[in-house]
Amino acid sequence: MPPVEPGGWCSSRGIREGGGMHLSHDVVVVGSGVAGLSVARRLSDKGLSVLVIERTGKIGGTAWSLGCKATFECLGCGICRIVEQKRELESRGFPGELKTNTGIAMVRRQGKDFLLETDTGDIQTRFLVVATGIEPYPAHNAANFGCDIYPEVFSGYDLEKTLNEEGLDRYESFERVAFIQCVGSRSVKEKRGYCSQVCCRYALRLCENLKYRFPHMIIDMYYMDLQMLGEKKDTLARIARERVNLFRHMPFRVEREETEDGFFSLALRFEDPQRVTRSSYDAVVLSVGMIASGGTLDMARKLQLTQDRDGFIKNLGEGKTSTPGIFVTGGAWGPTDVEGSLRDAVTTAETVLAGLKEDGP
Ligand SMILES: Cc1cc2nc3c(=O)[nH]c(=O)nc-3n(C[C@H](O)[C@H](O)[C@H](O)COP(=O)(O)OP(=O)(O)OC[C@H]3O[C@@H](n4cnc5c(N)ncnc54)[C@H](O)[C@@H]3O)c2cc1C
Ligand code: SF4
Ligand code: SF4
Repeated sequence: MPPVEPGGWCSSRGIREGGGMHLSHDVVVVGSGVAGLSVARRLSDKGLSVLVIERTGKIGGTAWSLGCKATFECLGCGICRIVEQKRELESRGFPGELKTNTGIAMVRRQGKDFLLETDTGDIQTRFLVVATGIEPYPAHNAANFGCDIYPEVFSGYDLEKTLNEEGLDRYESFERVAFIQCVGSRSVKEKRGYCSQVCCRYALRLCENLKYRFPHMIIDMYYMDLQMLGEKKDTLARIARERVNLFRHMPFRVEREETEDGFFSLALRFEDPQRVTRSSYDAVVLSVGMIASGGTLDMARKLQLTQDRDGFIKNLGEGKTSTPGIFVTGGAWGPTDVEGSLRDAVTTAETVLAGLKEDGP
């Protein structure tokens, strides 16, 4: 993709030359997750004036709180790409301008441009990139599994964050652990039939981490399907074969029971009462998937963008949405991993540049 011709757009504060009309920015990127930051970098490297709006107080989105899952070997979780992104920000500075703690209240069309009313003032832009991402499925929604009720039941996302923040040592006392897959995904009952893509892989990597640290631990995994495509898929297949006990049926309830010696353990219940499984666990990990973030749902509504039935914004190809001038990237249009988000950001940035070129000065 050739760079945008010099003369048409001025990178300093996006003042459009010749026409006399003042734009605040060429492009506003909504959301500063891995995808939004990457689009901003590519567009600002091409000389465009870019503003990134982030509604929380910190940048990075979901993936920046995930940790390295390497044991004695790399398990290919993709989080190294986040480390690279952080380093690049440190060495090269932020790509364009950043407004944190900023929400978009309303968006209006003004000629070819968009006028955004934000809680920190109005912003005019030619193009909008929606990079509002995903959220981990809230495990407490699956009340039948007892998350937020029993302290020994927690989500895979909680485990991920522990890995990043303080390590896994606090799990040392657990001898028997069950992982329940597809929590919040592939659920006909919840009308959320899609596969979240990452949870089989992150669960197997976490299992390997736990086994590596605590070889005494017995891990059972309850699943309906195993998705292991991508980086290190052979390693993941080996972990599934050798390090965990796989059970291809899904429990429908977790109950906490008092044991004969006065302690507590967790029991899994199945629709079929005849089904025999290991009856008790010290901990249960719910492998939560991804849902469209509240910000994605909100932007889709405010911008009147077509959504799919799960609330993600429809990508009509190469990041184009149902409204010309508005683009979507990363998890905002469906579950993906860090590598997928970065690839997507490249495509979306190129589509924006092509749009600018077509549009002319
Ligand atoms: C439990 C879990 C484990 C995972 N593990 C892995 C893994 O091991 N490896 C891997 O590669 N991927 C993993 N992923 C996937 C990874 O987190 C996503 O691919 C990645 O976060 C998508 O990046 P994004 O920039 O599209 O969205 P996000 O990371 O969700 O970022 C979106 C940003 O937009 C902001 N925002 C939202 N709405 C608005 C709004 N209206 N206005 C302004 N700002 C807004 C948010 O605050 C956030 O900063 C995991 C996901 C989950 C849930
Ligand atoms: S890809 Fe993941 S597991 Fe491998 S070194 Fe990087 S962060 Fe660690
Ligand atoms: S990645 Fe695995 S756990 Fe996640 S929804 Fe798909 S099949 Fe279920």
